Amino acid sequence: MTARRQLERAGTLLEIDSNVVERLKYPQRVERVSIPLERDDGTVDVFTGYRAQHDSVRGPFKGGLRYHPAVTEEECIGLAMWMTWKCAVMDLPFGGAKGGVVVDPHSLSDSEKERLTRRFTQELRDVIGPMHDIPAPDMGTDAETMGWLMDAYSMQEGETIPGVVTGKPPVIGGSYGREKAPGRSVAIITRQACEYYDRPLSETTVAVQGFGSVGGNAAVFLDEWGANVVALADIDGAVYDPEGLDPEAIQSHGDDPAAVTGVSGAQQLSNEELLTLDVDVLIPAAIGNVLTEANANDINASMIVEGANGPTTSTADVIFERRGIPVIPDILANAGGVTVSYFEWLQDINRQGWSLERVNEKLESEMLSAWNNVAETYEIEEDISWRDATYVVGLQRIVEAHEYRGLWP
Ligand code: GLU
Repeated sequence: MTARRQLERAGTLLEIDSNVVERLKYPQRVERVSIPLERDDGTVDVFTGYRAQHDSVRGPFKGGLRYHPAVTEEECIGLAMWMTWKCAVMDLPFGGAKGGVVVDPHSLSDSEKERLTRRFTQELRDVIGPMHDIPAPDMGTDAETMGWLMDAYSMQEGETIPGVVTGKPPVIGGSYGREKAPGRSVAIITRQACEYYDRPLSETTVAVQGFGSVGGNAAVFLDEWGANVVALADIDGAVYDPEGLDPEAIQSHGDDPAAVTGVSGAQQLSNEELLTLDVDVLIPAAIGNVLTEANANDINASMIVEGANGPTTSTADVIFERRGIPVIPDILANAGGVTVSYFEWLQDINRQGWSLERVNEKLESEMLSAWNNVAETYEIEEDISWRDATYVVGLQRIVEAHEYRGLWP
């Protein structure tokens, strides 16, 4: 598993207590549930769901729930580990978790998705809670899904508990700015990385794979801030225009499935071809494991900023390091999502509502402080990759927390 290999590598680099590394290789708990769903035609199908809780030394477990046919227990554990590091890199008082249901969400009607979500929530009720484990959206789930989860949990508890989940619609305790936060943070980190390498944003060409909440919003913000977004892709294919595209004018896949592939005047490419374009910045922001041993030598971008969780395999990482292509890792770049989730949780448990301006200002300063911590480590340590520098920042906090708390009994 890529997450475990990255941990082992960072453990050696940091020379941290191998006993702590050993503990961090395993999740604290994995819940596996069966979810019976009555389909619209009256038949019953049973789906499998998971919640992997990796480490809670610094606070309640936190992380998304994905609905995807490729969800597995191993994948949830790896993604939960990444959430532990991500929360620590951002210095949030949370540990890491991830869960999901093995289902193709496009095969469900809206009411089937609602019933599946409510029953999944009920099955997880003993292991989640506002002070214990707080789910959020991920692939295949959104604000509406989180609203159903909040309602199902609250109805069973007999009181409204908005803090049990983040990424809800603002009218029921969600936070303004949460939906765009992962894309906004990818754009902020891309801007900082370009500045670090003395590359003016106005002279930077960008290719983005994925046009969902991460990729779509990152493209819009980067375009707004002056970068030249020349290529975009969604699940159906990619488009390329060296003169630049207008991401703001392109509707979401949900509103118009042909919005990206139908952009007029642009060259049509496959997703694989988009990855190899000669651009300044490549942002893989769709699914995991797209940059592999098979294509790492064909990548022509000068820099990679990871929008998706785990788009680069460990072997591809080694190739990029050898080729001198900096890879700014997911656990820093897309951490805006969980950071605004933290703001949402604070608003919920304190019965407050923050303005969009306050959320965005606070996100900007949290992202800058995380970037500065990582960049400082990157400078101090010699011959270290951006991923390793980010791991050093996060792991140091986790290891110190484990040392203070100790192992009991
Ligand atoms: N699923 C998102 C992630 O991977 C957000 C998690 C959260 O907000 O808890 O970062």
